[in-house]
Amino acid sequence: MTLNARQWQAIQHNDATFDNQFWYAVKTTGIFCRPSCPSRLPKPEHITIFTDPKDALVAGYRPCKRCRPLNQLVANELWVQEIDHVLAQDYPNKLTLTELAAKVHGSESYLRHVYQDLTGLTPQQKLTQLRLTRAEAELLRSNASVASIGAKVGLPNTPYFIQRFKARYGQTPHQYRLHHGD
Ligand SMILES: [Zn+2]
Repeated sequence: MTLNARQWQAIQHNDATFDNQFWYAVKTTGIFCRPSCPSRLPKPEHITIFTDPKDALVAGYRPCKRCRPLNQLVANELWVQEIDHVLAQDYPNKLTLTELAAKVHGSESYLRHVYQDLTGLTPQQKLTQLRLTRAEAELLRSNASVASIGAKVGLPNTPYFIQRFKARYGQTPHQYRLHHGD
């Protein structure tokens, strides 16, 4: 893929917000980098863009020793796993982005950026998804009230719980239970 203006700008400014969105390889050195790499700026006509670093390897480029484009990816993937682990454990409790960031040792903005990049969801969206999936199972398995199920899965604001549930399943929790329960 050839370089577009936005990518060129990201490379010129070592812009880390583009990391994991694309990688750039330099014809003259045979090396590929993350956009944030502080190495010397190549000529734009020597740059090839990759949206998957493995494609850069396949094309015969070597990962840069300075910005280590592959290690970064692995590190972020492991980090996302760690975040998912915390979400899966803590979803019943109130969990703000600030609290989550503290638990996984990252800044809020970087956490949100990396997580969304690798999963397509913000951490908050993922959390709501987990809670609704759990609530759906509880609705069918127990006779507990809608309000208490909401509270149990970390959605203690009942109107909000009903609204999110309906947005995902097309029915209120009560309707859903009537239609899917036995
Ligand atoms: Zn580099």
